[in-house]
Amino acid sequence: MSFKTLSDADLKGKRVLTRVDLNVPMKDGKVTDATRIERVLPTIKEISAAGGKVILLAHFGRPKGAKVPEMSLAPVAPAVAELLGKPVAFADDCIGESAKAAVDAMAEGDVLLLENTRYYAGEEKNDAEFAKELAANGDIFVNDAFSAAHRAHGSTEGLAKLLPAFAGRTMQAELEALGSALSTPERPVLAVVGGAKVSSKIDLLENLVSKVDILVIGGGMANTFLAAKGVNVGKSLCEHDLADTANRIMAAADKAGCEIVLPADAVVAWEFAANTKNETVALDAIPADAMMLDVGAASIEVVKAKIDAAKTLVWNGPLGAFEIAPFDKATVAAAQHAAARTKEGKLKTVAGGGDTVAALNHAKASEDFSYISTAGGAFLEWLEGKELPGVVALEKA
Ligand code: AMP
Repeated sequence: MSFKTLSDADLKGKRVLTRVDLNVPMKDGKVTDATRIERVLPTIKEISAAGGKVILLAHFGRPKGAKVPEMSLAPVAPAVAELLGKPVAFADDCIGESAKAAVDAMAEGDVLLLENTRYYAGEEKNDAEFAKELAANGDIFVNDAFSAAHRAHGSTEGLAKLLPAFAGRTMQAELEALGSALSTPERPVLAVVGGAKVSSKIDLLENLVSKVDILVIGGGMANTFLAAKGVNVGKSLCEHDLADTANRIMAAADKAGCEIVLPADAVVAWEFAANTKNETVALDAIPADAMMLDVGAASIEVVKAKIDAAKTLVWNGPLGAFEIAPFDKATVAAAQHAAARTKEGKLKTVAGGGDTVAALNHAKASEDFSYISTAGGAFLEWLEGKELPGVVALEKA
């Protein structure tokens, strides 16, 4: 993987079209979680300090090519300004006259946010004309939105073809972290994959068995594997129709020399609710009327031992129904163990994908992980081994 970074860019006096992820959660016109804004601050600050004119490009929600007022980026500009500690101007269009006028008014080091790129259908269609109109307001392109890199859109892929293109610092950190976890990792590499269903993670599992040394499967998806092996899983969440898929993945792992680790015991309950009656049982003793909501104590010990044996860990998905106590126990124990090993300098830990971030935050393990991706879809596609168009475009630039 090779791409240019901000260190390679001559920024002074340049109009720098900077693609960022500002798709932040909002309520009543106020940003409720500024994590995404915080992530792009280093890039904005660096370009600005180097005398570049920072022109922020972003999407917000899914207006599908229409100017939906509720999906305006206008309220996000003051939120960026506050965290940045300097003014952020706003233009009510991302192309055309008003965008051009706002860009023309910029001095070196200024920051400007352009309106939602998805107000134009050309964005998601990656229309060449639309990308050209965006490019008209820039001298160089910086992409700092890894989370949008799995889509070939005008402001991600299209622009990288039209202007000298560079990875922003957050994009760079993400790509370096992911690369060191799967492309050029220190072995043994352990993957921990949990979550609800096999069906949503077939590609991911198939890619991982070809790349990692050990694959721990937990959560609801483990039930499908256990059932395929003849375990009676009672009323557990289980995709019985995917038994063949599970067997195929296990055979592929065998062939690739990847050890698959399934739960050795389970915590079962009779209803999906917090603090409900529960028991830890062996796999041959799962009551027909109960469901497995977490892996048991014996399984936790196995997972910890695998973590101890690994030099690199990639994690996606919880080991149990972590939102409802006490079925968060295995996820918390494994996450804290991995965090401690990372802190000791014995393990590199990379995690990501929707619920995983919430699960690791819940376990208070996030701080000590080497890298946590907040990218969701892009992180999962990367785990699936797919090429991300936004990244490919940077590599070709
Ligand atoms: P995913 O989005 O695929 O990573 O799935 C995350 C969801 O899987 C969480 O909401 C968990 O509550 C759920 N989950 C994990 N383990 C189980 C289980 N054994 N039974 C039911 N749901 C589970």
